[in-house]
Amino acid sequence: MTTRIGITGAAGRMGRTLIEAVGLAGSDLLVTAALEQPQSSLIGADAGELIGQGKSGVILAGDLARVIADIDVLIDFTVPAATLANLEQCVAHKVAMVIGTTGFTPQEQARIDAAAQTIPICKASNFSTGVNVCFKLLDMAARVLGDDVDVEVYEAHHRHKIDAPSGTALSMGKVVADALGRDLQKVAVYGREGQTGARERETIGFATVRAGDIVGDHTVTFAAEGERVEITHKASSRMSFGRGAVRAAGWVAGQAPGLYDMQDVLGL
Ligand code: NAP
Repeated sequence: MTTRIGITGAAGRMGRTLIEAVGLAGSDLLVTAALEQPQSSLIGADAGELIGQGKSGVILAGDLARVIADIDVLIDFTVPAATLANLEQCVAHKVAMVIGTTGFTPQEQARIDAAAQTIPICKASNFSTGVNVCFKLLDMAARVLGDDVDVEVYEAHHRHKIDAPSGTALSMGKVVADALGRDLQKVAVYGREGQTGARERETIGFATVRAGDIVGDHTVTFAAEGERVEITHKASSRMSFGRGAVRAAGWVAGQAPGLYDMQDVLGL
């Protein structure tokens, strides 16, 4: 059976990648709707031509309500306000969602949690398979290395990224904090400047770099006296996120209502 996919922010960096990724995924997944902001000059353009391929017959729409009957799953990599507006419509029409947007407040996340009682939602701060393997490795490293090490998270992204630290860096910090029995909200330190005093041992530090066209680098350092372990992931193409999100779309379409992540999709 074919899973019909809608893509929001279709002209954005991830949106274009997702259109391409669905095309690479095989014939049981099909883009049947592509959306942009209503005022976008690209409304009416062909989604296939948008990514430099031939006509696909899918025309960029500006209003989800007009195309929602044509889709089984909505993949949304936009901004929190747009994702939450789309969420309401998906709940009303019982359409599953894959959410890649980052930067939600705790209150906004609570709305997603509530929606997941009605529809299946797969949400991940990072849809790449490699990063999800790293989450597993981080959990193992933190449990073995324990309180002997200082933990620092470093991330670097392109100059256009609007939130910091990255959702992936926060997820990595949370995996480590959970494994060490700490509350990330209490122990996170976001940047340091001036007379900071000596490092408090239980803190988890975050460092952010924004520059050029970096797709996404993450390193978690576990530093002890005399040695350190570093777990690093480097994305060199957005297609790593695109392929993962499309795999998640095929998977989540067949699930019961609930909030899932990429670990569930990969069976980790
Ligand atoms: P982008 O290139 O700026 O694309 C965002 C898209 O959303 C654009 O097409 C934009 O349209 C559209 N948009 C913005 N505001 C909107 C609104 N109010 N209503 C409807 N559409 C709206 O950004 P990106 O690099 O693709 O990243 C998008 C999101 O995905 C970010 O939150 C990023 O952190 C996240 N991300 C997640 C992963 C993951 O694996 N989870 C990986 C990469 C990125 P305009 O251009 O017209 O504003």
